[in-house]
Amino acid sequence: MIHYTDHFLDLYVRNSPALTSLRADIDEHLADCFYCRERARDLFGFYRKTEASENIPVVQSNLYATTTIES
Ligand SMILES: [Zn+2]
Repeated sequence: MIHYTDHFLDLYVRNSPALTSLRADIDEHLADCFYCRERARDLFGFYRKTEASENIPVVQSNLYATTTIES
C-alpha cells in the first residue's frame, strides 16, 4: 500500500485548497489505513492546539466521519 507523506497529510489536515479535488481519495485511504490515520490525527491535534495563536485553518468536522472502522 502506498502511503501519503507527512507533508501531504499536513495539507489535508489544514484543509488546503490544493487538495480539494483529492479529499475524497484521501478520506477513502484514511478509512482503510491505520498508519496514515494516526499520523493525520496527530497533525490534527497539533494544529488544534496552536490555532488560537496562529489562526491556521483547521478541519473542524468530517475528518473522522469516514474513518471509523466497524466490523
Ligand atoms: Zn496509508
